[in-house]
Amino acid sequence: MVKIYDIVIIGGGPAGLSAGLYGSRAKLDVLVIEKAKFGGQTTTTAELENYPGSIPDCTGPALSKRMHEQAEEFGTEFVKDEVVSVDFSGDIKFINGKDAQYQGRSVIITTGAEPRLAGFGEEMEFRARGVSYCATCDADFFEGLDVAVIGGGDSAIDEAIYLTKFAETVTVIHRRDALRAAKSLQERAFNNPKIKFIWDTVPVTAYGDEILEGLEVKNVKTGELSKLEVNGVFVFVGLDPITEAFKGQVELDESGYIPTDVEMKTNVPGVFAAGDVRVTPLRQVITAAADGAISAISAEKYITEKEANLVQA
Ligand code: NAP
Repeated sequence: MVKIYDIVIIGGGPAGLSAGLYGSRAKLDVLVIEKAKFGGQTTTTAELENYPGSIPDCTGPALSKRMHEQAEEFGTEFVKDEVVSVDFSGDIKFINGKDAQYQGRSVIITTGAEPRLAGFGEEMEFRARGVSYCATCDADFFEGLDVAVIGGGDSAIDEAIYLTKFAETVTVIHRRDALRAAKSLQERAFNNPKIKFIWDTVPVTAYGDEILEGLEVKNVKTGELSKLEVNGVFVFVGLDPITEAFKGQVELDESGYIPTDVEMKTNVPGVFAAGDVRVTPLRQVITAAADGAISAISAEKYITEKEANLVQA
C-alpha cells in the first residue's frame, strides 16, 4: 500500500530541507523528493558570506550537507526522483515522479529556480565546451586562462570574484553601464585587478573549433561588433522558476513563480510554496530557509485543523 505522508516536500534545497526539519520536529511524517543534488543552487555557491553565523570559508555544499543530515536526524525521509505532474484536486495530493507516485495530506513546493540561458548564438553548442552556468563546478578548468562573465547581478559579480582565484583575467560583460549587484560586491569587483568590465554590451555568438575560442559581442549603444578572445564564458543572467509540473494545478504569476501569503499558502488548500519558487522580494539561502520553516508550521496547522473538522463531523 502506498504510504500517505503528512507533508510531501518537492525540492531539496534550503527551503525544502528547512521545511523537512521543522515538519519532522513537529512529529509529522515528512518526505522530501529531490531530482538532483540536495542543497539545490546552494551546492553551486562557493562562499556564503551573507548567511548569518556562517563560519569563514563556509561553502554552499558544506552547509547543504549539514542541513540534509540535520533533517534526516529528526526523521525526514528522502527520495531521489523527478516530479513530472501532480494532482492537487482532492484532500489527498498525488505527486507523480518519473519512478513512483507519492501521496500527501499536504504538499510544500520548494523546487526553486534554475539558471536562464543568455540566448546568444551557439550557446547550447558550446555548453560544457567553454560555456558554463556554474563557476564552483567548472572554474578549475580555467586555471591561468581568460574567461568572460555575462550579467550584472549578484550571481555574476559573486562568481566573477570567485573565478579570479583560477582565471588569469575575468571580463564582465554587462548590457547596461551600471551593475545590479549589491554595492559591497561591486566594490570588491571594482577593486580586483583581475576583473575588467565591458559596459553596454551583449554577447552575439560564441565561436571556436571544437572548444570555445571567443565571443563576438555587440555594443548596444553604437551597434559596433567586436571579438573577445576567451577560453570560457560563464552565464549569470537570472533565474527561471521550476514550475512546469504545477501548471494548471496551482496559481502561477506571469513569470511562472507561485504567489503565496505570509504563511506560504498558495491558492490551493493544503498546498504551500517556499523559497525561490515563490513570489518574494529576496531570493537568498536565509530567506529560503525561513520560508521553509514557516511553510512546515503552516502545513502542520492545516493538517491539525483538517483532523479536528473530521472529528466534529
Ligand atoms: P538577477 O538579479 O536577475 O540579475 C540578472 C543580471 O543579468 C542582470 O544584471 C541583468 O541585466 C542581466 N541579464 C538578464 N538577461 C540578460 C540577457 N539576456 N543578456 C544579458 N544580460 C542579461 O539574477 P542573479 O544575479 O542570478 O540573482 C538571482 C537572485 O539570487 C537575486 O535575487 C539575487 O539577489 C540572488 N543572489 C544573491 C547572492 C548573494 O547575496 N550573494 C548571490 C547570487 C544570487 P539588468 O541589470 O540590465 O536587468
